Amino acid sequence: MTWKLDCGSFALFVIEDGYYFRDPKTYHAEASEHDWRFYPRNDQGQVRLNFGCYLITNGEHTIMIDAGMGKARTSGPPGMVTGLMPDAVDELGIDRDSVETVIYTHMHYDHIGGSRDPSGTPVFANARHVFHEKEWAFWSTEDTDSARAAQGIVRPFIDADRVDLIDSDAEILPGVTAVESFGHTPGHLTISIISDGTRTLVGGDVSNHPFQVEHPHWSLPVDNDPVAAGRTRDRVFESIRDTGTVFVAGHYPMPGIGQVVTDDGVRVYRPMAAKSAR
Ligand SMILES: [Zn+2]
Repeated sequence: MTWKLDCGSFALFVIEDGYYFRDPKTYHAEASEHDWRFYPRNDQGQVRLNFGCYLITNGEHTIMIDAGMGKARTSGPPGMVTGLMPDAVDELGIDRDSVETVIYTHMHYDHIGGSRDPSGTPVFANARHVFHEKEWAFWSTEDTDSARAAQGIVRPFIDADRVDLIDSDAEILPGVTAVESFGHTPGHLTISIISDGTRTLVGGDVSNHPFQVEHPHWSLPVDNDPVAAGRTRDRVFESIRDTGTVFVAGHYPMPGIGQVVTDDGVRVYRPMAAKSAR
């Protein structure tokens, strides 16, 4: 499914690339039932966990933020669905060849895998791929399954000169800025969209669960550096707290659009409704 959020002169489409179901008790030892209150469940009481990615356009320029898991994944829990993004973009009536830029918030496979189809062909044929040099420095030198998978997606883009590395905060379009937010991975980025008096922050995996708004130091095994990830989360959430900034997160319950607000003295996530894009 796809949702649309107006961000000033930009439209942001939240695209669900996939999802799976999981027993919430196996997710984080300290999380209570209350912490799972925003999540849909199936008949077995498992929670639905999502893979989100984003298309933003002002009619003239079109950017993807992450690309989802894609169809070529080789493993995952039974019943996991992935690779819905390309059809979702097509259904928006947006020509995939018109996408100029794909920003990778980071190089976990559920954010980059979808940039190639199962035969290895780029999904966005004309796009330049933007990511932080520290992110590539890490994944290009690790010798793990995850690193090899990332290299398989990213290295051919480098070899084909389809990459723009950044080494600091970088404005991708006027008002759209990739911001260093390290910790989840060594070169993780969040994406700030400021337009016509609105501010939206696409969080990448700076946070994987809404309970981290209240408990930023509840790290998950997917955090590369749990301490740095917790510090960065706390800083990011504090910077947008009670500011009206819309926070968007691809692993939060879809559409994963909300605000960070103070409720009875506690910093919490407040989901917002969004309209379906179709
Ligand atoms: Zn992720």
